Amino acid sequence: MRIPFIAGNWKMNLTLSEAENFVKIVSGRLPDADQIETAIAASPLFLPSMIKLSKDSPLKIAAQNCFYKDNGAYTGEVSPMTLKDIGVSYVILGHSERRRYFHETNKMINLKVLSVLKNGMSPIIGCDEKMSKIKSNHHMKWLDNPVSEALRGVSAEDMSKVLIAYEPSWAIGTGRAASKEEAEDGCSLIRTTISELYSPQIADQVRILYGGSVSDKNVANLMQCHDIDGVLAGKASLQPEKFLKLLNYQK
Ligand code: 13P
Repeated sequence: MRIPFIAGNWKMNLTLSEAENFVKIVSGRLPDADQIETAIAASPLFLPSMIKLSKDSPLKIAAQNCFYKDNGAYTGEVSPMTLKDIGVSYVILGHSERRRYFHETNKMINLKVLSVLKNGMSPIIGCDEKMSKIKSNHHMKWLDNPVSEALRGVSAEDMSKVLIAYEPSWAIGTGRAASKEEAEDGCSLIRTTISELYSPQIADQVRILYGGSVSDKNVANLMQCHDIDGVLAGKASLQPEKFLKLLNYQK
């Protein structure tokens, strides 16, 4: 069974005191991790404090990016080894904003995925629709396959730690979420790709998230889809009460 995964990606928002306040408010009000897993991806500057504050809660703390080397002369980069050392559980990699503004390539993202796994954390790999798929003869297919590129060299065993987020760039920050059908199409193409790369059993275990203008209004609908196991919310995760509403999608 795939446990639902509801995560927030704060991007470059909030202050340290706002981040701390958020964790204090939500920590005692989260579902058990065996019902719904919850995570927040925050600025690296907030991570140690958020990890400390959430230590007795099911909330997992995630990074939004990291480099693929553990250490060395890479001015300004964040080491996956140090993220692991402070207690980070998940790292978003290959978000469409990283690809667009920081020119991250599939090759770089693949190196980061391998490095995050080597350090014992879970990557949440972003796949951007713009570069990925077209509808032809009613079949979805990749233009350029970011899933197989990102997973190059990832062992079948490590696939149990991998999450993939389908985030069409036209839906990110626009207030225009993908419809349930569009989101399911993208997520199911990702699952089929994993099945072809590994096996149907492995594809059946991997959690696939949808991201792009998720809100308390559309989350329940999205979560009904067979291949959508969770969401990655930007704007709707910035305020504690709004984030908690996403978690209550079944009510
Ligand atoms: P929004 O929910 O603000 O559209 O952002 C989505 C996103 O990029 C999550 O990673």
